[in-house]
Order: sequence, then structure tokens, then C-alpha cells
Amino acid sequence: MATTRFTYAPAPEARSVVNLKPSYGLFIDGDFTGPIDGSHFKTESPSSQEVLAEVSEAGPADVDRAVRSARKAQEEVWGPMPGKERAKYLFRIARLVQERSRELAVLESLDNGKPVRESRDVDIPLAAAHFFYHAGWADKLSYAGYGADPKPLGVAGQVIPWNFPLLMAAWKLAPALATGNTCVLKPAETTPLSALLLAEILQQAELPPGVVNIVTGAGGTGSALVAHPGIDKVAFTGSTEVGKLIQRTLAGTGKHLTLELGGKAANIVFDDAPLSQAVEGIVNGIFFNQGHVCCAGSRLLVQEAVAEGVVEALKRRLGTLRLGDPLDKNTDIGAINSPQQLDKIRELSDSGEAEGAQRWSPACSLPERGYWFPPTMFTGVAPAQRIAREEIFGPVLSVLTFRTPEEAIEKANNTPYGLSAGVWTEKGSRILHMAARLRAGVVWANTFNRFDPSSPFGGYRESGFGREGGRHGLAAYLAGGLDG
Ligand code: NAD
Repeated sequence: MATTRFTYAPAPEARSVVNLKPSYGLFIDGDFTGPIDGSHFKTESPSSQEVLAEVSEAGPADVDRAVRSARKAQEEVWGPMPGKERAKYLFRIARLVQERSRELAVLESLDNGKPVRESRDVDIPLAAAHFFYHAGWADKLSYAGYGADPKPLGVAGQVIPWNFPLLMAAWKLAPALATGNTCVLKPAETTPLSALLLAEILQQAELPPGVVNIVTGAGGTGSALVAHPGIDKVAFTGSTEVGKLIQRTLAGTGKHLTLELGGKAANIVFDDAPLSQAVEGIVNGIFFNQGHVCCAGSRLLVQEAVAEGVVEALKRRLGTLRLGDPLDKNTDIGAINSPQQLDKIRELSDSGEAEGAQRWSPACSLPERGYWFPPTMFTGVAPAQRIAREEIFGPVLSVLTFRTPEEAIEKANNTPYGLSAGVWTEKGSRILHMAARLRAGVVWANTFNRFDPSSPFGGYRESGFGREGGRHGLAAYLAGGLDG
């Protein structure tokens, strides 16, 4: 069947809604301030390589200032404040995120490279939802199941990645604040701008100084933060490699730790699945956010009888995806976040070909400037190949086949990770059978990549430990909670 690819007129979102400053300070003790022992770095747009702004790189003395400010605010203001008063601030932040959602969405797409359709419809609404949801908990903690009067841990040091910059900030800040902790947050070095706009929102919400501090910088700033003796709890989202490093640093310190790390999820399609729906779910599972998603369905396991049809349908569907300007509202696939990430995707994809898998991409022209990778599918993939084992963190799908549910379970679990999985079938009993046997923190049935603040998210094995969201997520910020 021939694919019709309509020509769309460009529909760019107005960049003028964002008021970029040439230079940004660190957000410490309620104010923006220059680094005292750090330096500056530039953040660029991955779709155009244009420098967007200069950002401060916090050194150890800056991190120390931020931690001290957070400690003071925790002991004197935020900790003693009744939950119902803390809730008001969280509601206010949530409403301001909604009010400024267009500005936040455009800024996120500029700095990260993701399509504005996604930042507008997923990242920003979910970030607001996390603040709303946790505002609701702030005065009801005694009903959360962690004792009659659960206590905060103190000061949380939080380090986040670049794939969902504002959303990850919300995942970290909202539960910490709801439970009476104060925070020092370090955004990723390639995407600091939405966290800095959030800092302005916190000022607008009149959050007391020091309750949230935001220190920008790279790995050095992150490592100074997690090693700081004034931190009671570390919450980290990022690569398994850095997660392990942090775990080693914290061993024996008595600090609480939660780790949200990488993944290599299996998306399993049975022959009785609603196939057109499954194809949409597979596409959403791996090409959403250019595949820069820890829980991406990067391994498609499809039952042999329908494998050929599913691959053909996927090819047709991938041929309709639009790659290009992240600010165009018609764009499906945006830019790869950094040249380093692009190199990693290229290297792993080349290894797929070298190891004997068949590579396919739709005809797709890549813009001249910026970092781009076409949607790519590998068929004939063997479980031992690197593209079936390693996290690519890009728009690359590896297709494997299976005959029986047992074989699907064995292949799905044949990974050191354990973050997410998907099952597509008409049979409810089969969904339950599979969900009980798949070693993954989240199992989606007949859908994929769905998130809700009330639903705990997290992994185990090399995908980390601890949960974010829901009642379980509160435990990670309460003394006597369930974290590691
Ligand atoms: P990364 O580990 O390189 O960086 C993550 C953050 O850690 C950044 O802010 C970085 O500056 C900081 N960092 C780097 N070295 C550090 C150190 N030694 N000490 C403290 N902090 C340090 O990861 P990344 O490339 O930015 O993100 C991609 C990874 O994150 C992927 O593996 C992905 O699966 C994972 N991820 C997981 C989840 C989840 O919820 N499980 C969500 C998003 C991303």
C-alpha cells in the first residue's frame, strides 16, 4: 500500500514568548547570584547549534552555600510549617506552571530539541500535575501509611538528566517539598534553562528563600552536591554508570538514596493483539522524545505469526513521521540533545549492522545544522547483539521475535535492567500472567509510556531503586520510609 505523505505548511510556535537572558546566575537562598568559585558555560539549541545563554557553573563553595541555605530554611521555616500551609505554596507553583506553560514549553523545546507538541502536551502539563498531586498530600501525610506523624529527612540533594528537564525537576521537588524537606537541585548541563525559569516561578510564588536552591553545572557540580556532608538524602536520575558511582560515594555515610537509572524495555506484541493500536504504541514507545526515554520500548518482541505484518505496518507508519524544527507544531521527531549523544547513537547503530542485523530508516532528509538521527529500525536482531542489550537512548528500535509466552518472558527478562515493559494482547488473563513474570518496575498493557503522578514509577536491578510518584514516592522523603 502506498503511503500518502501530505505536505504541511510550517506551523512554528512563537519563539518570542520566551524572554532569554544573556546570562544566568545560580538560584541560592531565593535569589540569583553569580558563582563564587565556579565559572560559566554556554547552553545551545541542539536543533540549530545557536548559543541560547551563558549559565553559571557552581563550584564546591557555591554548592556549600546552597546546602547551608537549604538547611536553615528546613530547620527554621519549611520543616516547622504546617502541611496545609506548605500545600498552598505547592498549589501556587502548580498554577503558575500552568499559567506560564506556553513559555515553558517553547523554552524546553529550544534547549532540549524535543518537539513542542510533546513539551506542550506532555512535559509541562505533567510537571504541573506533579505539583498539584503533591500539594494534595502535604496536609494528609498522617494518612499515607507511614505513621501518625511522619517526619521529613531534612535536606535533599537532587541531580537530574536532560531528557525531561522540567518534568524531572517536578518529580524531584514536589514530593520533597510536600513532605517538609528542602532541596538543592542540579539540572543537567545541556538543559538548564527550564529549571532556571522554574526558579523565577518559585520567586513569583513567594516560596520562602532557601526552600529550593538550583545549582547549575556539570558532573563536578553534581558530585560536589551528592558528597556534601550537609545533605540527608540524594535523589538521582541519570545513567546507571553515574548511579553506581554515587552509590559508592554514599556507602557508609548514612545518607538516604534513591536511583532512577537506565533501561532496555521489552514491548511484547502477541498475535491476538489489536495490531494497528499496537503499531501506534510501538511508535510512541520508542520514537517519543527521540527515544531519549529511560523506559522507552527499545526492544520490540513480536510473535512470529504476525512479525512480518507488524514490521511492514511499522515501515509505513515511520514513513509518515516528520523530523525537523522542534518549534514546528507538526514535528514528530526533534533534534538529538547533544553531539555526544548523537555519537553514542551512531556508534551503537553501526554495531548493529556490523553484528548482522538489518537496518532500515524511512527516506528522510536531515537538517544541515544541529544534531539529528532518522527514526531507525533493526530487524533480524539476536539477543546477544549490543543493540539488543545496551541502552541506545535514541530513536532506534530493535525487533526480535518469539513463539511462546515463555520465550517472550525469557527474552524480555534477559537484561540487567528492570524499569519497564509492555504487553499487547486481547486476553486479560495473559496480561496478568505476563505482568507477574516480567521483571520490570512498570508494566503497561495495551499502551506504553503513560505517566501519572499518582502512579509509582521506578525500577530495580541496574535500573535503580526507589519509587517516584504515588504514595510510594512519599516514602523516599520520610524518615522510616522504604528507600534504599
Ligand atoms: P548522566 O548520568 O550522564 O547525567 C545525569 C545527571 O548527573 C546530570 O545532571 C549530570 O550532570 C550529573 N552527573 C554526571 N556525573 C556525575 C557525578 N559523578 N556525580 C553526580 N552527578 C553527576 O545521564 P544523562 O546522560 O544525562 O541521562 C541519560 C540517562 O538517564 C539514561 O541512562 C537514562 O536511562 C537515564 N534516565 C533515567 C530515568 C528514570 O527515571 N529511570 C529518567 C530519565 C533518564
